[in-house]
Amino acid sequence: MHSKLVIIGSGPAGHTAAIYAARADLKPVLYEGFLALGIAAGGQLTTTDEVENFPGFTSIRGSELMDNMRAQSEACGAEIVSQTVGKVDLAQRPFKFWLHPMGDEETLEEETHTADSIIIATGAKARRLYLPGEDKFWGNGVSACAVCDGSLPIFREKPLVVIGGGDSAVEEAVYLTKKAAKVTVLVRRDQLRAGKSNARRLANNPKVEILYNTSPVEIKGDEGPRGLMKSLLIKNVKTGKEEEIPANGLFYAVGHEPATHLFKDKLKMDEDGYLITTPGTTETNIPGVFAAGDVQDKKYRQAVTSAGSGCMAALEAEKFLAEQEDVDVPNGIEGETDVRKGKPETNGDVPEYRQNPLL
Ligand code: FAD
Ligand code: NAP
Repeated sequence: MHSKLVIIGSGPAGHTAAIYAARADLKPVLYEGFLALGIAAGGQLTTTDEVENFPGFTSIRGSELMDNMRAQSEACGAEIVSQTVGKVDLAQRPFKFWLHPMGDEETLEEETHTADSIIIATGAKARRLYLPGEDKFWGNGVSACAVCDGSLPIFREKPLVVIGGGDSAVEEAVYLTKKAAKVTVLVRRDQLRAGKSNARRLANNPKVEILYNTSPVEIKGDEGPRGLMKSLLIKNVKTGKEEEIPANGLFYAVGHEPATHLFKDKLKMDEDGYLITTPGTTETNIPGVFAAGDVQDKKYRQAVTSAGSGCMAALEAEKFLAEQEDVDVPNGIEGETDVRKGKPETNGDVPEYRQNPLL
């Protein structure tokens, strides 16, 4: 199948790009992934409970917000495909890509798909620490998503541990206190990374104990293939003292890795694997390939900033496509024609989108 514009990824960045691109008649096709990287279509917000900082919603469940975005993309005319993109070839236009069969991330379908322009919005995924015992107890006490797993019976009224000091760690810990006996938060430095209000929430929760300067060493538990986690060996990094604490659950909240393995050696990335975009734009080093959301943003990583960059990517893709083709402009608006024909920009390095009559 050939598409003018393909969007890979289904978080706030991908769906915002789809909404703008569909409204600009680009007929975007959005590949939302089928549990791509183990994350449900809709992205990271599907793993959280309440979102309280997305404008327009005092409080909304993360999964509901993403369902709304998906419905809006479709209502605007975007085509959504519930498959994962497994391989891309960006060497020349049209760009080529191949899909994994549904639910199978090992093989590739034979059909080659093509696109004139691609917006990468593949987001990020939770990082693991690969501690001794982690593989054995993964799913039997160890998790990277409190909202997904925290209500399981094995965790109820039990002591649990969260590792990390960022906003996710705070949210996971506070969420877990609803059912756990106690939640210990291990912070590797002498301070939290989380914002002030979240840090206060954590410190004020009577079920939470914060251990600073502390790292996990080994996950321990029952023997046997279905053995459950029972304790965690921890170490004070300042004194070197080790201690075993009771813990029936361990939840990682140690940040995320950008989902960029598909683009290794194909697009410029920084040392942490984030896609590099020209400042003030979503342009990658390959013309016609744009990146939006957490996949290119290691600083803000918020739903609203992802959505904002998704909007930028759609507008930039639209301009790129218009410059590539001799587009038939149905409404004949002069300003639009000028922008499409590549008239010099008026705002330094950053395109002046206010000239765009679609806005
Ligand atoms: P993501 O949300 O990461 O979504 C990317 C999607 O693309 C995923 O569904 C993935 O499966 C899919 N995908 C990946 N690769 C492929 C592929 N090859 N083919 C097809 N599909 C693919 N931010 C806030 O502003 N407020 C909050 O309250 C908040 N709470 C959070 C709570 C938690 C627990 C976490 C982890 C994050 C939270 N964030 C919050 C951050 C916010 O979720 C992210 O900044 C935002 O979701 C990033 O959006 P994105 O569009 O870049 O990608
Ligand atoms: P983060 O901000 O990168 O924090 C990761 C935490 O894990 C840090 O405290 C870090 O310690 C720690 N860590 C990393 N590697 C570790 C290791 N090997 N051992 C022990 N600890 C380790 O990630 P996040 O909390 O997932 O947040 C990601 C983004 O989403 C942020 O921008 C955040 O603001 C946003 N978010 C927002 C909300 C909200 O607004 N309500 C909720 C959740 C997430 P150091 O501090 O020492 O590096």
